[in-house]
Amino acid sequence: EGSYFESSKMSEEKLLGGLLAPGFDEGPCLSRYQSSLYRKTSPYKPSSYLLSKLRSYEELHKRCGPYTESYNKALKQLGSGQMISSTESECKYVVWISFSGLGNKILTVASAFLYAILTNRVLLVDPGKDMPDLFCEPFPEKSWFLPTNFPLKSKFDLYEQKSPDSYGNMIKNNMLNTSAESLPSFLYFHLVHDYGDHDKLFFCDEDQMLFRKVPWLIMKSDNYFVPSLFLIPSFEQELIRLFPDKSTVFHHLGRYLFHPTNQVWGLITRYYQAYLAKADERIGIQIRVFESGTGPYQHVMDQILACTLQQKVLPEVDNKQQTVVPPSGKPNLKAVLTTCLSSGYSENLRTMYWEQPTVSGDVVGVYQPSHEEFQQTEKQFHNRKAWSEMYLLSLTDVLVTSAWSTFGYVAQGLGGLKPWILYKPENHTAPNPPCGRVMSMEPCFHAPPFYDCKAKTGIDTGKVVPHVRHCEDMSWGLKLI
Ligand code: GDP
Repeated sequence: EGSYFESSKMSEEKLLGGLLAPGFDEGPCLSRYQSSLYRKTSPYKPSSYLLSKLRSYEELHKRCGPYTESYNKALKQLGSGQMISSTESECKYVVWISFSGLGNKILTVASAFLYAILTNRVLLVDPGKDMPDLFCEPFPEKSWFLPTNFPLKSKFDLYEQKSPDSYGNMIKNNMLNTSAESLPSFLYFHLVHDYGDHDKLFFCDEDQMLFRKVPWLIMKSDNYFVPSLFLIPSFEQELIRLFPDKSTVFHHLGRYLFHPTNQVWGLITRYYQAYLAKADERIGIQIRVFESGTGPYQHVMDQILACTLQQKVLPEVDNKQQTVVPPSGKPNLKAVLTTCLSSGYSENLRTMYWEQPTVSGDVVGVYQPSHEEFQQTEKQFHNRKAWSEMYLLSLTDVLVTSAWSTFGYVAQGLGGLKPWILYKPENHTAPNPPCGRVMSMEPCFHAPPFYDCKAKTGIDTGKVVPHVRHCEDMSWGLKLI
């Protein structure tokens, strides 16, 4: 009986409290059921309503996924251009276009998936150059990848703010016939940070109502737009039911959707076992410097030290070297995982803790998996490393991240961690205080709309409801708390 209990507890952990569906073949995606061996059990439990919604989404995906009869039928409608209302399709889709850096991609896929759940649509992901190399299939049986022969695929790269066939521009130019019989079979939504006021109507109820019958909704975004979905009245109640704890949206959806492929899982587990597993405490420091030069910069180094020492994330060193005699017994081992495009900051830290003892007697090891020098989104190993580093950061106990970085948001969300965030330096000067604790582990929506759809005027969308607030690291951004 004990062993039965043990094994059901095991599988409860393995399935992340019911978030993951059982029954996947383990071999092709080891990370799916092995993540619980590396990550502590989350204190945040998904609601049973979310779990039931995920299971019914999986059924929908099975029925409507690529090459199913329903998919083929919906494709035919796409071919015919105009929608024929009498043959309203049984399956409707959200198509996510591959765009921007990897952190942004992860956040936008999660946003698109939540939108799909809210609108009873099927999410199909444009594989782009790297997605299948980085992520396992999250849904049983049918792929989440958009087939490469998808008719509009050649337009994906061309879509931009000025595209005449974006929803925003069609509205702006009065080119959209909104009567139900003549709605088009697809709409393109430009939700990239440079989007205009008409594109932002996506976040209005009235417009959402219009989209309901359109079988194909295609979106390009580089932003975590979930906070603004909470401000759409027709979604609000459902969202609160799905996420009674509103600060757990990305935490749950991220762990549900993003499983590293075996290649990436190898990078993660080898690194973890070699450098992090034996430590008594794991500390992650994500360093993202948005400066034009390469660095390292003294003001950034000073900021990292000021933050981590003031907040006691890292132990003080004894620079008078009085504690030269090592205390007897096994010292407390702290492993610091740094991630950064350059290596200077972690080299400084490592040297500091080698040359001088800590006042506490702790021993500190500093490790950085890569230093890729600059963003190289087209290179396969570059993206694998970026993904494995986000994941490794999410396995730490205490996290420090950099302002404005989606790379850090992904790590904090997956890890269920509330990091210390290093505020953005201005004019080569670190702000004071150098960092602060975030209110919640949710990512920040960097380019939210400031529009009251009903009153048709501008408003501060960070002041409408208590759980959608401005971000710690970007005063105009929005985040869930
Ligand atoms: P953001 O720009 O910080 O919001 O994060 P993104 O992930 O969207 O884009 C930054 C890209 O730069 C990443 O996808 C990586 O390709 C690269 N990059 C930035 N920081 C790091 C890092 O610490 N490690 C690695 N390996 N790559 C990084």
